[in-house]
Amino acid sequence: MEDSCYYCKGSKDKANQFACKACIKSKNIGSVLMSGYINTNSGVQYVEFSKHQQSDAEALLKTLSETLVVSDLHGVWNLFDINETPPVKNVVVVSFVGKLSNTRIDAQEDIEIRVKDGTIKAGFCVFERKDPPCLVPGSKAWFVKQLKLASSAFFIDDSTDHVESVATLNIPSILIKDRTHLEKTLSSVVF
Ligand SMILES: [Zn+2]
Repeated sequence: MEDSCYYCKGSKDKANQFACKACIKSKNIGSVLMSGYINTNSGVQYVEFSKHQQSDAEALLKTLSETLVVSDLHGVWNLFDINETPPVKNVVVVSFVGKLSNTRIDAQEDIEIRVKDGTIKAGFCVFERKDPPCLVPGSKAWFVKQLKLASSAFFIDDSTDHVESVATLNIPSILIKDRTHLEKTLSSVVF
């Protein structure tokens, strides 16, 4: 992990955060709602929305083509290595991470590579998590609710709370146990 600030390359105040105190403040990281990567006409692009830009974030998610699978990253979609080709392509990844955490940068880098490879359509980090049913802006259920979903679409995650929250939207939500279970679940996808 980088010892220096992700932005200014100066020294960090906390080892488990990716940015220094000054950059956290100047970049308003505390108020981020969602960040991620999408495919545009001019290539793969990083997007980031603050809590004040909630309607813009929702509008962007609504522009994505109809999605078949919405998947968690850690312990679910990253059970497929970056150089693997998963059996289903019409996938959007959503990862809950700490907004200041090093894990967020790792997740974003992983997502960027997968979007560029075309193995996922888009991928995002979100930062809100409360006991189910958690539908607050910035939660996974809020995120899934914005997407255009195919009639056979489903949500997969390895955390019970995310699965329970998304299930309240009447979207099939499956708790993934391991890679074998993931592959079996994806093999049931109706194209
Ligand atoms: Zn900095």
